[in-house]
Amino acid sequence: MTVQFADFSFPEALLRGLASEGYEQPSPVQAQVIPLAQQGHDLLVSAATGSGKTAAFLLPMLQRFLAIPAHAGGTRALILVPTRELARQIYIHFMRLGSFTRLRAAVITGGDPKTRQVAALRKNPEIVIATPGRALELLQQGQLDLRDLEVLVLDEADRMLDMGFADDVLLIIQHCRPQRQTLLFSATLQQRGLETFIAQILREPQVVTVNPVREQHPHITHQLLLSDGLAHKQQQVLRLLQQETFDKALVFTNTRDGAVALGNFLMGAQQRVAVLHGELEQRERNRVMGLLHSGRVNILIATDLAARGLDVPGIQRVIHFDLPRSGDDYLHRSGRTGRAGEVGVALSLVAKNEWNRLESIARYLNITFETRSLDGLKATFNGVVKSKSKAPLAVRKARATADKPDAPKVKERWRDRKNIGKRRQPSTPAVPAGHTPLAKRPPKTPKPSA
Ligand code: AMP
Repeated sequence: MTVQFADFSFPEALLRGLASEGYEQPSPVQAQVIPLAQQGHDLLVSAATGSGKTAAFLLPMLQRFLAIPAHAGGTRALILVPTRELARQIYIHFMRLGSFTRLRAAVITGGDPKTRQVAALRKNPEIVIATPGRALELLQQGQLDLRDLEVLVLDEADRMLDMGFADDVLLIIQHCRPQRQTLLFSATLQQRGLETFIAQILREPQVVTVNPVREQHPHITHQLLLSDGLAHKQQQVLRLLQQETFDKALVFTNTRDGAVALGNFLMGAQQRVAVLHGELEQRERNRVMGLLHSGRVNILIATDLAARGLDVPGIQRVIHFDLPRSGDDYLHRSGRTGRAGEVGVALSLVAKNEWNRLESIARYLNITFETRSLDGLKATFNGVVKSKSKAPLAVRKARATADKPDAPKVKERWRDRKNIGKRRQPSTPAVPAGHTPLAKRPPKTPKPSA
């Protein structure tokens, strides 16, 4: 029997919040996490972005705070996240789901003025959403008090470790009430250092694994376009953006300079483009995100870090202008499209020096790439890179058809040469069994496509 929101005994205020969000049925991660969180367990949850994990931790938290009045005025929940963008998105989720309650939240992140954040904390919000650096700073200054903390959430813990926040997080935890409930979410449970982290933070956690990072998103088509290098890629991207119909597109580069250069090129070609990278001031980032949300720009060029956690409806194209450095990065980037039941395309521009990496990513993720080509902008590189070891037949076939527009799909599961992730893809299906895509009620007024 499928789980319904009605099964969770949510109060009227939350049911109204859910209805206004248009959520009709719990996503798989919500169906598993909510009852366990309601029972008070510590949880270790492996769930990818786009799975509905934010509501999975917000809903039982809000339910608890509505049912049990605070016994003191301190912070009742702390949600630690790796980036400011993710903090903002969680805040937006909270504002929607909790809009029929009197509960309040504050966002405490680096890059925004501290005085405003301190003023927000003085109003005793029940929930604080924070990045570790700023949270620690305010704790040490006595502005943030976690002695009454009831719930601690670590969201995207793998990224927090990646970004070197482990020590800050452990220091923060020393300030938290020991009898709290702790919920840890991570896209992967294989992350280096996660085990030590878990042992120090969680008490007898229940483990929930939903849609682990390497499982495929069922609504994304993966395409590749062979390219001859930077200038050629620029022309190809411009053509793609000009000739395709999409609401919004996200273009990834591997470096900040690359993002700026591509932004300048596309702006020069009269495209409605904005650029997001890690060096931007918070105010500028907010402005860029505002432009994208409002539709004033429909193309965002971003680096990996800047786009982490980005959840903008209507992103129908993700373009990997530079191929990402790892399979997990490929999946995180591509997961910005095909959100909440929408259909998306992830397209990789692949130059000769990136071909080996593409092979590794394809093998690691067990991805089937469709090969595309653009009239008049076909690459001289045809997907054949001389290799010491002879590639198996499936690879040679894939390469041979790589520049034909109507090439049949070839499952690229070859096993030659060194790869990025040494882990081998088990023979799991591309669409994980039991993973139901999130279906959202369509908005009343559909956005016009650009
Ligand atoms: P998250 O994984 O929390 O970033 O959520 C991904 C997207 O799924 C967001 O746009 C949410 O608004 C949406 N979402 C979350 N839960 C549901 C649900 N039960 N039904 C439909 N959409 C949902």
